[in-house]
Amino acid sequence: AWAAAVGQRRVLLAEPRAFCAGVERAIEVVERALEIHGAPVYVRKQIVHNTHVVNDLANRGAVFVDELDEVPTGATVVFSAHGVAPMVRTHANDRQLSVIDATCPLVEKVHAEARRFTARGDTVLLIGHSGHEEVDGTLGEAPGRITLVESAEAVGSIEVEDPERVTYLMQTTLAVDEAEEVVDALKDRFPAIVGPGSADICYATSNRQNAVRRVAAEADLVLVVGSENSANSRRLAEVSRRDGTESHLVESVDEVRLDWLVGADTIGISAGASAPPDLVAALSDALAGLGATSVSTRSIGTESIAFTLPKEVRRPQGG
Ligand code: SF4
Repeated sequence: AWAAAVGQRRVLLAEPRAFCAGVERAIEVVERALEIHGAPVYVRKQIVHNTHVVNDLANRGAVFVDELDEVPTGATVVFSAHGVAPMVRTHANDRQLSVIDATCPLVEKVHAEARRFTARGDTVLLIGHSGHEEVDGTLGEAPGRITLVESAEAVGSIEVEDPERVTYLMQTTLAVDEAEEVVDALKDRFPAIVGPGSADICYATSNRQNAVRRVAAEADLVLVVGSENSANSRRLAEVSRRDGTESHLVESVDEVRLDWLVGADTIGISAGASAPPDLVAALSDALAGLGATSVSTRSIGTESIAFTLPKEVRRPQGG
């Protein structure tokens, strides 16, 4: 396979790709917590859905746990970028844990919407994927008043108290095109429904999808760097495939199969919002080693968003 995989080809890097502002912030929260408190610092769930990031922080003293029961009383615990249900905050309080919350502000925005709409008596329909931590957290804002909707097909069987008082919200990492289909189905079924349009899908998710589609239009193969459990990374491979281009999600260059490269003259590369940029560089270098003649970027624009850190880990001004 090596011989067939070696050859002249073009590499196209989708821009933007890799880390978003919410992920950079969450990683920095854990790094600073380690600096301030020393190891171990407990982290509830994977801080972001990326194997490399989690292993790296674990090597530096972060201890990842599934539930707060595993954290010693009084210890410091970081909540992951995906957010938590209010019940988890109560539990942390009961256990006298000192919490540093790395929930992405754009996830927190969806939580705030869920609280506002359920408080005024609406049934909230949350478009998202069952079992994802972000979805669990948002559903937890008003148990019994928020219903998960996973697909357009599922819309027919939804039951609500009052069809005149229905709102929809979304998981931040959906595919924009799929979410629109679900919204259309919801509007057919509940003409009075109101919602955020697709604005709950975050800037990083929609930018990475637009950029990868631009690359997929030119490429024979699209490689997406990201972990299996990263929703936004999976969506990047899916939208490429829906656009008719073969696409694979890989943890790193080690997972690239040489037979994928055979006959692929133009290879597009992107990475999910939780994937480190240096893994993209390693992949692109490896393709250059196989004889790629050019590496260029296809950009749909650059991102300048940054979020302030939680106060528990902020450095004093001028300090
Ligand atoms: Fe925040 Fe979007 Fe990044 Fe998730 S993907 S952490 S919602 S910016």
